[in-house]
Amino acid sequence: MRTRTKNNTTAEVAEFLKTLERVAITTHVGADGDAIGASAAMVRLLRSLGAAAVFCHAEEVPSYLRWLLPEEVEPLHATALPAGHDLLVVDTSRADRTGVPVPAAGARLNLDHHEDNPLYGEYNLVDPSAAASAEIVAGLYAELGVPLDKEAAEAIYAGVRTDTGDFRFRNISPRAHELVADLLRAGVVPAEVHERINRRGSIEQLKIVGVSLANAQRYGEVLVSTVDNSDYARTGATELDSKEAIDQLRSVEGIDVVAHLREVPEGTKGSLRSETVDVGEIARLFGGGGHRLAAGYTRRSMSPTDAKIELLEVLEGRVNLGEKI
Ligand code: AMP
Ligand code: MN
Ligand code: MN
Repeated sequence: MRTRTKNNTTAEVAEFLKTLERVAITTHVGADGDAIGASAAMVRLLRSLGAAAVFCHAEEVPSYLRWLLPEEVEPLHATALPAGHDLLVVDTSRADRTGVPVPAAGARLNLDHHEDNPLYGEYNLVDPSAAASAEIVAGLYAELGVPLDKEAAEAIYAGVRTDTGDFRFRNISPRAHELVADLLRAGVVPAEVHERINRRGSIEQLKIVGVSLANAQRYGEVLVSTVDNSDYARTGATELDSKEAIDQLRSVEGIDVVAHLREVPEGTKGSLRSETVDVGEIARLFGGGGHRLAAGYTRRSMSPTDAKIELLEVLEGRVNLGEKI
């Protein structure tokens, strides 16, 4: 793979985008609101520039985000890059986490805001100070002079809104709020987006969130919740439903690190959140990655209980774990 390990400027990437004719845009596996929002905004940007652009991803788009890609029904389940297309990857910290395999020639563009991104693209637009990848895409619209229509503005808004925990996390900046003001001027109605994203839960999801909260255990400044197959069975929910509990777990006073460890077919998936501790570094120790204060990993063939023990061992010395483990 061609790797230049060089970050480009918005102007350089804008010039590069103008040269493209047929592009496929993908994002990371386990797509979230920023992944899909930034992708949808990129599809629209490339089409505005006259290119043929498709979103391309082997996994199904989560139902609460499907409205962001209304015309993309066909290519949604592509397991390989369609022939003759240049691959642009958004919001993806590593080339091995993309929704379609990166061809030998590499991704032509890697647009992201993860600080551990190794700049794996031919062109790289990686800005860890951006609240969301969608914010970086908005910079390309401005650079290229492409006006934001309501749909593009909604896609960018969805990305910034979800990656900042509805504008609550430490990654939100004055610049991001100024962008949001422009997005509202372009027609975004926050209550409409809230309705489409946040009011799409099921009773099963509500129940597994309740179980996740009930299963939480405190170790000093650390709160760990584990959920396993028996919890899914008794609520009828999925592992992904259970992750919705993570923000509520953060509401406990005096907690610095929150871990949500859920059973998946491969083993255990961990989601880590913190106020001050670099949990990205901890996730990388376990083969995962992410941001400093929000990161994740998957432990193969390990139960949530064993993953909890392993995690507490790593946290020892970094965080106050209280009286006993
Ligand atoms: P999550 O807890 O799944 O919402 O993920 C939080 C952050 O960590 C996101 O930015 C993800 O992209 C990143 N992340 C989650 N799982 C992994 C993984 N297995 N490898 C690398 N990064 C991950
Ligand atoms: Mn993401
Ligand atoms: Mn993101």
